[in-house]
Amino acid sequence: MKLPPFALHVPRTLDEALALRAALGSDAKVLAGGQSLLPMMRYRMLRPYALIDITRVVSLTRLDTTPVVRIGAAVTHADVERCTQAGVLFDLLRAHAADIAFLPVRGRGTVVGSLVHADPAGDWPLLLTALDATVELGSLRGRRAVALRDFIRGAMDSDVQVDEIALAATLPERASGLLRWGRCKLMHRAGEFASASALALQGADGRWACWLGAIDPGPLALPATAARLPAAGGALPARRDIAASALDEILAARPHIDPLAASRHAQAMARAVEQAWQGVTA
Ligand SMILES: Cc1cc2nc3c(=O)[nH]c(=O)nc-3n(C[C@H](O)[C@H](O)[C@H](O)COP(=O)(O)OP(=O)(O)OC[C@H]3O[C@@H](n4cnc5c(N)ncnc54)[C@H](O)[C@@H]3O)c2cc1C
Repeated sequence: MKLPPFALHVPRTLDEALALRAALGSDAKVLAGGQSLLPMMRYRMLRPYALIDITRVVSLTRLDTTPVVRIGAAVTHADVERCTQAGVLFDLLRAHAADIAFLPVRGRGTVVGSLVHADPAGDWPLLLTALDATVELGSLRGRRAVALRDFIRGAMDSDVQVDEIALAATLPERASGLLRWGRCKLMHRAGEFASASALALQGADGRWACWLGAIDPGPLALPATAARLPAAGGALPARRDIAASALDEILAARPHIDPLAASRHAQAMARAVEQAWQGVTA
């Protein structure tokens, strides 16, 4: 890959990384897995004069699983895929990670980098928004935490100030009580970004959440479809009814969407719900 020239900084501590971020200013970029940044540099869409590689900062490589899940900024998709913690939530995290691209991409690309990059087709913005994650950010000015729903402001647009580094993504405690999940990622070819992506989650309180990804400008909740799903016992609505409800919500929320794409998203939603209902957890 032929890249434009740049200075590479490889801090070993967070203090050093934050000092570099403050000193180098807006023309420098944080380098995490490089799976999005380096191709953009290759095609000259970005020409940062300096990169700050955060992957050697040990504190950012931590993936904590108790008491809450906290994913450090240097944790890769493959680290999540290899996590051995038992539980429904971890089955979901592992399955989601394993479905991203190919192993070389998963071994470098980071979860938090995906959130900062905010590609509407990205897998982590969908799942972690549905799980109500929070993003922690740091700078020499201090720390702040932002709900992921607010952090992603639109396609390729996230709330990171020029002197900040996103440090971690944290899940709320209630995420660990997840009862069931189903997911459906449609791709034109294996290993590609999703053309439609749906998640159905049932929380410890029995309530469902239905979310779509790979849709502009970012993850879309389908609360009316979720409200039709039974909390406990009862019968699942027919697949065509779930798809019809999803389609109504998609068209209401995204009136300019291509009808074929809307239909693909709605079908993906119905399949995700069925998978969750059947209790498929891995
Ligand atoms: C062939 C291929 C297929 C792919 N398929 C998929 C897929 O199916 N699903 C999917 O979700 N993704 C996919 N990706 C993208 C991949 O998951 C990337 O890892 C992800 O988009 C960005 O993460 P990264 O760690 O590589 O970030 P980088 O490329 O290093 O950075 C991306 C952007 O975020 C900024 N940034 C990164 N981390 C931080 C931080 N901690 N603080 C502040 N700024 C930061 C960078 O400055 C840059 O602007 C694919 C990539 C490739 C190359």
